[in-house]
Amino acid sequence: MGALEIVLLPCLADNYSVILHDPASGQTAVIDAPCGATIKAALAERGWRLTHLFITHHHADHTDGIAQLKAFYGASVTGPQAEADRIPWLTRLVKAGDKLEFAGHPIEVLDTPGHTLGHITYYFPEDKLAFTGDTLFSLGCGRVFEGDPEMMWESVSKIGALPGDTQIYCGHEYTLSNGRFALTIEPENDALKKRMADVEALRAAGQPTLPTTIDAELATNPFLRPHSRAIQARLGMLGAPDAEVFARLRQLKNKA
Ligand code: ZN
Ligand code: FE
Repeated sequence: MGALEIVLLPCLADNYSVILHDPASGQTAVIDAPCGATIKAALAERGWRLTHLFITHHHADHTDGIAQLKAFYGASVTGPQAEADRIPWLTRLVKAGDKLEFAGHPIEVLDTPGHTLGHITYYFPEDKLAFTGDTLFSLGCGRVFEGDPEMMWESVSKIGALPGDTQIYCGHEYTLSNGRFALTIEPENDALKKRMADVEALRAAGQPTLPTTIDAELATNPFLRPHSRAIQARLGMLGAPDAEVFARLRQLKNKA
């Protein structure tokens, strides 16, 4: 099993698709399909042929490109069984605990509901990669559209429990605005201040801020830090359960 080549591909206004290429077999996977034309052009540029699509959840900005890519390449389309009725192009339905593989690389399906009820995360344990869609963002988390905050906290903390050196690819470039919110919540967090300086420089240069890592998120993402005494004190919630602090943070971010 050789290393996968990884291409982080900006799509639409602030979405990302990720291309994984296995040079030995030529197999090529795409995680989430915001825009078929952009992905097709990126593949053509590299001479790669799409074999697998992996979808995290049913929202249009993650699925609009599926039909075009499936028709053109005849690729398999894997996605959450719980959202099969919302993603009609799926050819393989998966659920929590399912073990898959791509070009010999093992993949574990994690159940991460909250943003949508069937949202899943694809975790590649041997490659130390996780594709978290709109559940865990860099310095933030997704809006809770279909579930409730407690469910979202469970999903976000499940991702937070992955090994610290796991590289996280998420569905959007929201790091800068997430980080500005994070600084209002934990202005004394030195790791956060330092990371935001890097993020600002990257964005000013038009560069992506992904991937991030679990270790970086645990140190700086307020949504993974509801146990922080500083955050609890700022919210007037000292000693409150993690899920409640998380819910309050999500509520404040919605208004930010
Ligand atoms: Zn979404
Ligand atoms: Fe999205």
